[in-house]
Amino acid sequence: MSSNISKLLSRRGIDHSLLEAFHHHQKSPASSRERLIKKLAKEHQIGEAQVAASFSFYDHLDSAGDPRELALCNGTACLCADPDNRLLAALKKRHGKEVTERVSCLGHCYAAHAYLDRGQPCSGDPAPSREPEITNTISDELVRSNLKEPLLTTTPLSIEQTAELITRITTQAPYDLLDQILTSKLRGCGGAGFPTGVKWESCMRVKSTTKFIICNADEGDPGAFSDRYLLESQPLRVLTGMMLAGRVIGATTGLIYLRDEYPHASTTLQKAISDLRAAALLGKGINGGEFDFEIKVILGAGAYICGEETALIASIEGRRPEVAVRPPYPTQSGLYGYPTVVNNVETFAATTAILETSGEEYARLGSTRSTGTKLISLSSLFNQPGIVEVEMGTPLDDLLYQWGDGFSQPVKAIQVGGPLGGVIRTDQTTSLTLDFESFAEHGFVLGHGGIVAIPESMPMNRFIHHLFGFVAEESCGKCFPCRLGSKRGEEMFQHALDGSPLNPQLLDDLLLTLEQGSLCGLGGGIPLPIRNILQQFSDELPWTEGRER
Ligand code: SF4
Repeated sequence: MSSNISKLLSRRGIDHSLLEAFHHHQKSPASSRERLIKKLAKEHQIGEAQVAASFSFYDHLDSAGDPRELALCNGTACLCADPDNRLLAALKKRHGKEVTERVSCLGHCYAAHAYLDRGQPCSGDPAPSREPEITNTISDELVRSNLKEPLLTTTPLSIEQTAELITRITTQAPYDLLDQILTSKLRGCGGAGFPTGVKWESCMRVKSTTKFIICNADEGDPGAFSDRYLLESQPLRVLTGMMLAGRVIGATTGLIYLRDEYPHASTTLQKAISDLRAAALLGKGINGGEFDFEIKVILGAGAYICGEETALIASIEGRRPEVAVRPPYPTQSGLYGYPTVVNNVETFAATTAILETSGEEYARLGSTRSTGTKLISLSSLFNQPGIVEVEMGTPLDDLLYQWGDGFSQPVKAIQVGGPLGGVIRTDQTTSLTLDFESFAEHGFVLGHGGIVAIPESMPMNRFIHHLFGFVAEESCGKCFPCRLGSKRGEEMFQHALDGSPLNPQLLDDLLLTLEQGSLCGLGGGIPLPIRNILQQFSDELPWTEGRER
């Protein structure tokens, strides 16, 4: 069914995609929605129900009006930085009204107190007498590294340096370029850690006249802002990595799926694309050779699940972005059914670093199975918040206490790797190192590398309520353990916050159902941090009698 709709939508292709039409008509009044849906269905030659199902999915395309005029960030770092809701009170005083809208993580976790004012991301001091501080870029002082020669946080590439790298891409054989990526043992930096070279090789081997590269810039994990840094400050590294991937697999089109919570990243990317085009480094016959490559930015519309690759592909096509069962994997059948490589922003930037040095040099960094470097995002409760590029294998405590300089207030735990990542007590961090194996051995995930500090003042039943609420809000709704279970969990912890005791058996059953019955990592992953909290902070929770603490 969905592959048929893909084929139908492919007739208008990415230049006239349904998602872009939705953005175009975003501000259409609710009264004209029905007419608009009929019109779009006719233009795209698909059913009205398909158009309506897709259009109504996104938070930022709400027919009731743009919900982002004034909205609070509901990310984990903002929750932890402001458990007393001081920002809410300050905004109420400034605007003379209650702020009821919420927006997903704005990627300002280093400053916290983030909110949208007239659609612009703001962060910092919420003092009511001041005009909002609009913070476009992550300043250089917030970015550092424990490497003598950082790979991703070094001086941004100039257009001349980029031209030199693109010459290597166009003059070397695809197999030689792939060989460098395989030798580097680079693993995807978006969370799953799948070997990048293996993914590229698998797509390269599929015979097809049309293939796509997709850069997943839908950095939705609350607590992570490393992709935002790369997109805003190192866009040429990301674009060069996409071109490298295109040359290896034989694709001529690259798409960047960018979350629309990052408006400044959109500007920097468009400028970098224009610079490449002006230097004849994009388009047909690059460097007078046979390699053609175009790059286009496509904006998301406020749906966390679009960070999952099958939902992301559905979103670009204009289908309702629900997660699909794999196989087939996108490398075999991706965008419009064509072979597609999807990698995240940091992975593409890392492949550029490999092109600049060599696969062997990259593999010399880190551990045997986790090579190279990783960008880690530190939230505002660190004395030194911001981005740290660390060599893989760095002890976690070095990061927390040397590079993060400890915490600005008493902190009882950290959450690593987004809302689905493990919650670790601050007295249990000593044996962990920052690499995939160490985290897996201890039952955690490194994920996208965001670290949120959880203060002593944060009640853990409130934190669990936040986690369940996040999944309930962001679930794509395809499978009921996640769609219903997350909501039941949120209600269970709302009752606990209201003073009712928690039933341990009911909670265990719910977590097991989520773990075993969910199709993707959102519903299936949320029990991990909750179980971590139950193990380590059980005495904070209001159990019914009889539960062992
Ligand atoms: S687990 Fe949740 S997000 Fe994932 S497919 Fe099922 S309903 Fe969708």
